[in-house]
Amino acid sequence: MAVKAGTQNEENKMRQEGHIMENKKYIEYILEQTKAVLAIDSPSGYTKDAAAYVCQAYRELGYEPQVTVKGGVLVELGAPAEGEGSGTALRTADTKGENQAELNVTTEKNDTWIESASAGDKGAVLVEAHLDTLGAMVAEIKSNGRLKLSPLGGLNPNNAEAENCHVITRSGRKYEGTFQLADASVHVNGDYSDTKRSYKDMEVVLDEDVDGKEAVLALGILPGDIVAFEPRTRITESGYIKSRFLDDKLSVGILLGFAKWMKEENITPSRKIYHHITVYEEVGHGACGTVPADVTEVLCVDMGCVGEGLNCSERQVSICAKDSRGPYTYDVVGALIEAAKRAGVDFAVDVYPHYSSDADMALLAGHDVRHGLIGAGVYASHGYERSHVDGVKNTFALLKEYLK
Ligand SMILES: [Zn+2]
Repeated sequence: MAVKAGTQNEENKMRQEGHIMENKKYIEYILEQTKAVLAIDSPSGYTKDAAAYVCQAYRELGYEPQVTVKGGVLVELGAPAEGEGSGTALRTADTKGENQAELNVTTEKNDTWIESASAGDKGAVLVEAHLDTLGAMVAEIKSNGRLKLSPLGGLNPNNAEAENCHVITRSGRKYEGTFQLADASVHVNGDYSDTKRSYKDMEVVLDEDVDGKEAVLALGILPGDIVAFEPRTRITESGYIKSRFLDDKLSVGILLGFAKWMKEENITPSRKIYHHITVYEEVGHGACGTVPADVTEVLCVDMGCVGEGLNCSERQVSICAKDSRGPYTYDVVGALIEAAKRAGVDFAVDVYPHYSSDADMALLAGHDVRHGLIGAGVYASHGYERSHVDGVKNTFALLKEYLK
């Protein structure tokens, strides 16, 4: 017995080591892809380059993604073998053309949904993360050659202050600058400390020799030009991931890692899985469209809230039970908690006080779906954000268990 037990232990150890090594490969890929997408400017409304990159990444993994009319990326990852799972899965095993038609007629979900829901919620699941980020637009070229901005999404002027940024003109030229309080020298401006930071009193100081509006116009800069902020991405030796826009590019990285895992491990899921990388989340309508007709559940992977009064840390995966719009589907939250427990994942369940997600938007748009939200813990959200590799590992592990 002792010998046998020893062998058993050896085997377990080897299996565990193999598991860790296998996971390591996917975590490394996730971090690599996260860094790559963070390096591509993608404020809401200017996401074409980032979407093209993500599309190519899915293609390299062996999938057939499509860029939606709206500019997002939709890809089917896999479905149960014929005869298993939902009737809806069979229904979509159609020609490409018919699938496309289904994408456009999402309201005709009808009796198929009822069938799949009563069959144990085996309808397709649409897993979403958003690729668009906060940013700004040139709103006015001031007479002194500085630029007034209008924010894209909730970019907060308090933590955007003194950040490097660049203006991207319609012709594709890029000009560097810094977002500053107007009259930003503390040795000159006696009101520096008392001035409330707002877009009204802040401006981009271009790193160009411009002293007036005409000189700025001569550069080709116009109102409506996109302003992208520097993400300042870095991963510390201790595993902390720091960057602007981890919300939600960290999750895009995680979804790509999940896609890689499914492909390389030859995973056949128990229900059909789609990924939708949305591009208008920060302005509120990312997931309002592009819900394929056989989808009965929308699961968003977006940043998990970390802060006073909440349980989650950057090293955990957060399961959101309720955000400011209301509760997530009770059964989905429960199933996520059960999956987290089964997989031995380090997780926290929280109520987010100031938050809404793409999943909420899918429901607001009128789709008849259940919804859930998970994500790696992110501190200092919408500012210089911080997460941790452990949060990534826990989110990845929860997705694997929940969607298997
Ligand atoms: Zn987000």
